[in-house]
Amino acid sequence: MIEFESVTKRYPDGTVAVDTLSLTAPTGQLTVFVGPSGCGKTTSLRMINRMIDATSGSILLDGRNVSDVKPEQLRRGIGYVIQHAGLFPHRTVVDNVATVPYLLGHDRRQAKRRALELLERVGLDPAFAERYPAQLSGGQQQRVGVARALAADPPVMLMDEPFSAVDPVVREQLQDEFLRLQAELGKTIVFVTHDIDEAIKLGDQVAVLRVGGHLAQIAPPAELLSRPADAFVAGFVGRDRGYRALGFTEAGRLPLRDEPVVALGDPVRLAADRAQDDWVLVVDADRHPQGWLVPRPDLDETVLPESLNLGGTLASADGTLRQALDAALSSPSGRGVVVDADGRFAGTITATEVLARIEQRSAVARAEAVEAVGHRP
Ligand code: ADP
Ligand code: MG
Repeated sequence: MIEFESVTKRYPDGTVAVDTLSLTAPTGQLTVFVGPSGCGKTTSLRMINRMIDATSGSILLDGRNVSDVKPEQLRRGIGYVIQHAGLFPHRTVVDNVATVPYLLGHDRRQAKRRALELLERVGLDPAFAERYPAQLSGGQQQRVGVARALAADPPVMLMDEPFSAVDPVVREQLQDEFLRLQAELGKTIVFVTHDIDEAIKLGDQVAVLRVGGHLAQIAPPAELLSRPADAFVAGFVGRDRGYRALGFTEAGRLPLRDEPVVALGDPVRLAADRAQDDWVLVVDADRHPQGWLVPRPDLDETVLPESLNLGGTLASADGTLRQALDAALSSPSGRGVVVDADGRFAGTITATEVLARIEQRSAVARAEAVEAVGHRP
């Protein structure tokens, strides 16, 4: 657990970067610091591992004041990941990662084996191990940076905009894989970003900072979206926060419609019979959705993977309303594909149907709110 107790940082030129910040980052959880540029995120993060010392107040790591611990010793238990990975340019990828285990006293071969394991864990192809950082893409370099920070198996990780410099598609992949990794590892993480979407996606709790290093609100993502503490937070989480909040609303039992499907390898004719000039859903032998097809009855062929339209995200039957709406809006047929827990086709739903469900939910929420106000003592 990391505790900030009235922590202030005033730089020598008088800039107050962090102002009486008090908050707790619980053990095994991912706490995000989010806020506009210059609001004191990096300064706050670096005070945890003493790259910067606080002017006043204290930071406790598992109950111990960090200022009582030697920086080298402190940092052994704290991994640190920064925006451009901060790799050694003249060392190979595997050596970049192996440096830490080697410094910790593993022999070279052991250190290398551990490094290769870690590279695999963060999703980097082992073929890249002997390359130099400059020969990797930005996203791949970030993976190496994460692997290196994990090399000492530190209980705490500090991450300063680690995914900000890569393109949005790669960023999403890195985020997804990082979430999977964290689900396994359960590190205590403080993650800095200026991107509210990233904060909401990754954080168990999110601390919104405003310029001057003031804490505006700290709360789990769903609460931040549904009950922003003030106008600043409301503005920062954005106009479309209602849509974002759907990401936390379980869809419940959706009114799914059954859909005639064809299997890969079936004759196109069969699909034509079923669809009558409309899109038809193609599944594999286990009923896992593969894509959509507009059958052309004149073709006497079989349904091949390369003739499918792969558009459309999948929603899971026990997922959220946002997922269901995404699936419907992104589907070429206008019918969102919903799958069961095993990924098998469960039915489809249209955007209109999801919106009706959202309406229904908001009506219930409004009624509950009115009720609550009515019963206030
Ligand atoms: P963020 O990471 O949120 O962008 P920083 O923590 O880097 O913010 O900076 C917070 C404030 O402190 C900014 O106004 C910045 O200009 C200032 N600052 C950062 N480092 C120094 C420094 N070494 N000396 C003086 N001011 C600094
Ligand atoms: Mg910063």
